Amino acid sequence: MDPFFLENTSENVIKNSVIDALAQCSEAYDSKIGNMYTKFICEKAFDILENGVMNNNYELISYGSLLSGIGFGNCSTTLGHALSYVFSNEGISHGHALAFTTTVAHQFNNSIFYDRFVRIIKKLNFKKITLSQDLTQASELIMTDRKHLDNNPKDVTGKDIVNLLKKIIENNTFD
Ligand SMILES: [Zn+2]
Repeated sequence: MDPFFLENTSENVIKNSVIDALAQCSEAYDSKIGNMYTKFICEKAFDILENGVMNNNYELISYGSLLSGIGFGNCSTTLGHALSYVFSNEGISHGHALAFTTTVAHQFNNSIFYDRFVRIIKKLNFKKITLSQDLTQASELIMTDRKHLDNNPKDVTGKDIVNLLKKIIENNTFD
């Protein structure tokens, strides 16, 4: 938790880990197994992380990441994380995948964090991501991830997942 350490970490590593922290707390905020305490901590974590990214403040990013860990550790992440692993399986880093998968998941779920999440993703300027495997196959694999999907605030079908993946790879993530 030493912000001095972060100053010596490459910008890409920071970008990826801060997106993971932002995805964790904002997905967990909506988790079905959350409660008023996890919601409170997750929202605080998001506020602090957002402030840290927008103002390039590493101390706030460290503190926000710690709070995010406590918040999501007591409930769970949801659809954004469930969608991310098929991209990671093809070599895209966890945070990079979440920049897109959590964005479309927040839109699908009508998350209160959607607009703010998009604003941060745009500031960090992530390269577009693609998927080489067949989308139906990918969605079948994602549908087996009950741990994340069962805690999602909205029911998700295989067809929904195909549509969300399409949105990402056809570069319509921010529409
Ligand atoms: Zn994660």
